[in-house]
Amino acid sequence: MNLIGCKAALMKWYLPLEKLWVIIDEFFPLSAKVDFLLFFYGYKPCVRTRLISDLNIKKLEDWCHTFQIQYFLDKEDFIYFSFNEVLLSLAVKLDNSVEKHEQAFGELLGYPHCCCKKIAEVGEHEIDAYEQKLLAQGFDGLFQLISPEKYIDGVAFISHVPCSTSCKNSLDLAEQVVEKLTLGKHFPELQQWRTALERIGFIPLKMRRSLCRSI
Ligand SMILES: [Zn+2]
Repeated sequence: MNLIGCKAALMKWYLPLEKLWVIIDEFFPLSAKVDFLLFFYGYKPCVRTRLISDLNIKKLEDWCHTFQIQYFLDKEDFIYFSFNEVLLSLAVKLDNSVEKHEQAFGELLGYPHCCCKKIAEVGEHEIDAYEQKLLAQGFDGLFQLISPEKYIDGVAFISHVPCSTSCKNSLDLAEQVVEKLTLGKHFPELQQWRTALERIGFIPLKMRRSLCRSI
């Protein structure tokens, strides 16, 4: 685990999720919940999201200070976050670059290499159409964990459009997130993901054991 991942992993032990979600609910779209879940679990070096209401800068700065996060707000209401200032600057620079940057930018957002490569092939402007194509194909069995369908509702397990409906790297990432969610089972703020897991019919082993004990 790199330094950023390590810092993120340490933070989750004292992470007051209710404080985390408050600002996300107020200023950002629901999809930002998935982004920040992955960010705090150490799977995303940077987050890019959009403001959906007038920002209270003081509140944002206090929030960033609490979690030791750096942020950058650009003119288009896009806002970027990272624990690392250098990565934050790089993300902003790449995202605003007129050069082709899907691969490098996707990797800064924590997407698997294969999925970044696919986005680069498809082109950033065609990504929504590609997502619809994958959704039309459907995600079977465990691969339902990598469906981007519920991302905009804030209950996906990955924050990117996978390269295919059977991307193993995306599934590995989603399963690691599921594993961490089960560790945080006492947090009511994580309930939306647990409900999504139940909808898929996926119950992790640890959760099954705890359910058996509580009956
Ligand atoms: Zn992939």
